[in-house]
Amino acid sequence: MSGRPVRRQLAAFVNYLLAPGLCLACGCELDNAESLCDCCSERLGRVPNPCSYCGQPNPVVTGRICPACLQNPPRWQRMIAPLQYIGLTRDYLQQLKYFEAIHLAKTLCRQCLDPLRQSWPRPEALLPVPLHRERLLERGYNQADEIARIWSRELAIPVDRKALTRTRATPSQSGLSAGQRELNVRRAFGYQPKHEYRHVALVDDIVTTGSTVNEITRALHRAGVDYVEVWALARVYRR
Ligand SMILES: [Zn+2]
Ligand SMILES: [Zn+2]
Repeated sequence: MSGRPVRRQLAAFVNYLLAPGLCLACGCELDNAESLCDCCSERLGRVPNPCSYCGQPNPVVTGRICPACLQNPPRWQRMIAPLQYIGLTRDYLQQLKYFEAIHLAKTLCRQCLDPLRQSWPRPEALLPVPLHRERLLERGYNQADEIARIWSRELAIPVDRKALTRTRATPSQSGLSAGQRELNVRRAFGYQPKHEYRHVALVDDIVTTGSTVNEITRALHRAGVDYVEVWALARVYRR
């Protein structure tokens, strides 16, 4: 991301703080209770006809599950990641992750509420995907915690923030191939929940190859959780 869009978006944010009735992205006057106007909300880009297993577009219009997942289902039972990791969504998520733009978590979380509200039955708890302690100290916050906190409040589902831990520091997943990502996170998570859950939702900002949530799901199934959902803001398409 070059300096100019960051400066422009920072200016838009300062504007938004001074005048909360203005759109965070374009500065136009808002006629809704959100922080983005309808036009900028469209620019976030939604995944069209998402498969309920992998969260990517399902080419079969009538099916709930795409042909690839019917052949080779993922380990988890459901994924909801409504936004495409492109354009404005990508800019916002990068700012959330690397520039402490925590206010953007709320904007993006609210844009994803409809499909989460429609998903039933509700999970018993939201489990944010953890950062390793060292990474958390370095960054100061875990964006998955912020997202889980907002969805918890909006949907009245408790967060169990300490259920999952990273048992070892793993190098960043970015720049690794799918196979390397899988090896990188192998046995990297511990699970000590407050209650014995049967149905939970893992919460993260972005799902790329799914190797992290796959590895966590493996640990959860081993511990007796039957139904694991993955809730994220955005999906990177991988096919
Ligand atoms: Zn706008
Ligand atoms: Zn699928």
